[in-house]
Amino acid sequence: MKRLAKDMIETMYAAPGVGLAAPQIGVNVRMVIVDAFVQSEERDPKVMLNPEILSSSGSIAFEEGCLSLPELTLEVDRPRIIEVKYQDLEGSEIKIMAQDLFAVVIQHEIDHLEGRLLLDRASLVKRDMYRRKARKMKAQAT
Ligand code: ZN
Repeated sequence: MKRLAKDMIETMYAAPGVGLAAPQIGVNVRMVIVDAFVQSEERDPKVMLNPEILSSSGSIAFEEGCLSLPELTLEVDRPRIIEVKYQDLEGSEIKIMAQDLFAVVIQHEIDHLEGRLLLDRASLVKRDMYRRKARKMKAQAT
């Protein structure tokens, strides 16, 4: 688990991204890495195992992107404040409040654990446009 976390943290910073879920790198574990404060000097990646949202309130619309869907951004409405429960790498249970970008990233990564992608939240038209664009990008790459 610690090695997986280390790999994921490196992958996330190399991308660069503010969050990564294990299923995104093909590992079927309920682990997410979040560092929503990339602009600050110090890196402070949070490793969350079995994250679970206990309560939520407010709402925030944020232009989200996803490392699994290059070049797609989509404005998504989500709760602005959430209470999250998770285990850290030592197995301790932790409860935190998160808000704004931090809350958005956690919810986005939990979506990955549930098999929901940003694209599932897009309109049919936007989904179709993106699929065509992705096919074209793939064709150019090969
Ligand atoms: Zn994502």
